[in-house]
Amino acid sequence: MSGNEKRFPLSLASVVSQRGNVRKSPTAMPQTAVQNAAFHIKNSHSSTIKPSTQVPLAKKASALAVTPQTAGVGMVSDKIRQAMVARVAQQGVKDSLVLAALEAIPRHLFVESGLASQAYIDASLPIGHHQTISQPYIVARMTEILRNGKNLHRILEIGTGCGYQAAVLSLVAKEVYSIERIKALHELAKNNLRPMRIANIRLHYGDGMLGLPQVAPFDGIILAAAGLEVPHALLEQLAIGGRLIAPVGGRQQVLQLVERTSQHAWNSTILEQCHFVPLHQGVI
Ligand code: SAH
Repeated sequence: MSGNEKRFPLSLASVVSQRGNVRKSPTAMPQTAVQNAAFHIKNSHSSTIKPSTQVPLAKKASALAVTPQTAGVGMVSDKIRQAMVARVAQQGVKDSLVLAALEAIPRHLFVESGLASQAYIDASLPIGHHQTISQPYIVARMTEILRNGKNLHRILEIGTGCGYQAAVLSLVAKEVYSIERIKALHELAKNNLRPMRIANIRLHYGDGMLGLPQVAPFDGIILAAAGLEVPHALLEQLAIGGRLIAPVGGRQQVLQLVERTSQHAWNSTILEQCHFVPLHQGVI
């Protein structure tokens, strides 16, 4: 076993011992709507990053089946969403397919209407049941790491929540499987995704810590909730050459990248700090 090659499951201690590598996320603090508005106005004439024109879109938002009721909102939100993508690019996300996916998915349709005006700030937002829709930057960053510039075939997401990240993933992979343990959120995601008629997402209600052995192996596995270690079943369901990206830890969390190098070996790398809701066993 090489220096950074490890047997799994990894203990939290083994993760924390590598904290020397941890770099602080540039977006650890959620921005406020006011700061964002100020940023947007200040930068509205900037010509540095225009994802809408520079990014080759896999699918434009208009290609998704957004309902007529949302069309008016769509025109306004397109601009705000482009500003959000520009910010994410400025924070270091480079993968043009990922930026295009972020631009294509109408995030405001995944939060309740009272929060729609905040949908494009760089923060997680409540979706009920003590859960949150993840921050746009971290969704993009994790997707970029998962993809690693390659075409993904079959991927698994643990923690569907409202379905936003699954929608983003659907534009960078051929098949997306997503598991949620809270029945009400599984239903919410179905309702949110149905009008968009995204054909390559399969939602499952269940305990994501067990994965989906009947569908495995996966080229990529992404966790949207933090456990003290990466569940062993998920490591087993990763294809050789595949990548898993997960937040790991309790109060202090880091993003952990795991690459399966052979039938019995996995490489682990600790990336930046992050903050996610906890991974729980079982269903409710
Ligand atoms: N992917 C979502 C993030 C949702 S928050 C987004 O697009 O924003 C994380 C979700 O993980 C919560 O909905 C929580 O219920 C779920 N979760 C936690 N533990 C889980 C488990 N063991 N299996 C499946 N889902 C889990």
